[in-house]
Amino acid sequence: MRRRPRWLVTPFVILQAIDLPVSNSWSSTHSLIQTTRTGTCTSSRRCVAIRAVAVDAEKENAAREADNAGPLSLSLEELADILGGKGRAKSCWDCYQLGVDPLWFFENDDPNQREPIPHTLSKALSLSVEPETRSQIRERITPRRQSQGMGRNALQKLRQVVAVSPQPSAQKDNSATAKETETETEPMDSMASIATVTQLHRSLDGTAKIVLQLTDGLQVESVVIPWPDRETSSLCISNQVGCAQACTFCSTGRMGELRSLTADEILVQMYWAAKVCRIFPGLYPIDACIFMGMGEAARNVQHVVRAASHLVDPQLFQLAPRRVTISTVAPSPKAFEELGKAPVVLAWSVHSSEDALRKKLVPTTKHQMVELRDSLIKVLLGRPRKLRQIMLELALIENVNDRPQDAEHLAEFCNAFYEKVPGVKLVVNLIPWNDIAATSGPAKHYRKPSNGRILAFQKILVGKDMLCYVRTTRGDDESAACGQLATKASSKPNNKTD
Ligand code: SF4
Repeated sequence: MRRRPRWLVTPFVILQAIDLPVSNSWSSTHSLIQTTRTGTCTSSRRCVAIRAVAVDAEKENAAREADNAGPLSLSLEELADILGGKGRAKSCWDCYQLGVDPLWFFENDDPNQREPIPHTLSKALSLSVEPETRSQIRERITPRRQSQGMGRNALQKLRQVVAVSPQPSAQKDNSATAKETETETEPMDSMASIATVTQLHRSLDGTAKIVLQLTDGLQVESVVIPWPDRETSSLCISNQVGCAQACTFCSTGRMGELRSLTADEILVQMYWAAKVCRIFPGLYPIDACIFMGMGEAARNVQHVVRAASHLVDPQLFQLAPRRVTISTVAPSPKAFEELGKAPVVLAWSVHSSEDALRKKLVPTTKHQMVELRDSLIKVLLGRPRKLRQIMLELALIENVNDRPQDAEHLAEFCNAFYEKVPGVKLVVNLIPWNDIAATSGPAKHYRKPSNGRILAFQKILVGKDMLCYVRTTRGDDESAACGQLATKASSKPNNKTD
């Protein structure tokens, strides 16, 4: 039996786009960038001036990004600058990693005070959940920072970053009315300034679907998949509300694209999932994260790359780079290059290697499969030899793309990876299609393939010495499985982020 391959760490290539001043026309801006990059300028003084403009523009760009960043998407250094010290920033992140609100945790020293849990979470299960006390949470923190405090000034600055006013619980008011209000009011969590949990559904297999409401009223979903054998959980997160790719087998594709999420809105899914996993029995700490929820990552590159980088930052969410995967359907050949800037594994949602069939499954496809594949090969070749890994994903639909000739075509299509990328590790993941209860469109006629057909498909690839796995379907009874995520907008979005 084949061993499951090791996930590989992808190098983080820092290739920030140079954002030149708006006063430059496109042509002059373009030529400035070209000149700077290629070094063909004949005037050294002009080169120096150009580099100075580029450096200033980069600084401006970084400052502008930092201005727009919320608490989760700031770098540790940026947060340290605001809070007045790296120790404070690290303490803040000790809390974020655990899904604990630092504004509550550091507001006083009472070791027996219990963590406030939003009603939606505490009511989600009929089980009564006893929140942890401050001292229980403290025990989870690195010993050398357990005694670290934040100070009133730092807490005030943190409140400004998360754009929340002082928490009611921090204000002393012993009146009967105040007590009554306290018991009725939803416990506050500063991350509610980014998104709040409105629903939590548990499937029979333990999978938990979390529905988050964003500040503009739109909803987004993420899914926690527990693995009892290794006592860890994987988190599937969304990067857009809806999706423009319109894959015919996918619920999200039927919503259309409502808007992209900011890096904070992507990362807050990790925050809430960490809280959920800490509170609820049967869920374990998250050690893997996949961008395979709602949305196409290539249509939200800047925020996806920033969020993925924070997930694997050893000072922030601290996941192993090989345990974070960005999946893309690859709307254009450039998608791989852009998403490859994140230091994580890339996955390509192929669905079919044959152009005409893929166009039926992913109607927004504009590029030939060979063109997309060659672009991916180029990106893989740019990575260190030992880090050349790619996952190919196929949602298998009975008699549509699960036929023996589909497997044969895919094997042939993959040969170029083996021939052109020395040391490549290619893994094919077969995802049995999950019913999305479509009453119209092609999905109305789609069926999940039988186990026999899936195994026959796998056997053809394995017979050609390829690594191929069948993904276990999880959470399908609560519409939390692959392709089943879709939310309803409770209001129109206020703005678009890209
Ligand atoms: S499968 Fe992925 S890319 Fe296709 S519509 Fe669904 S979310 Fe979008």
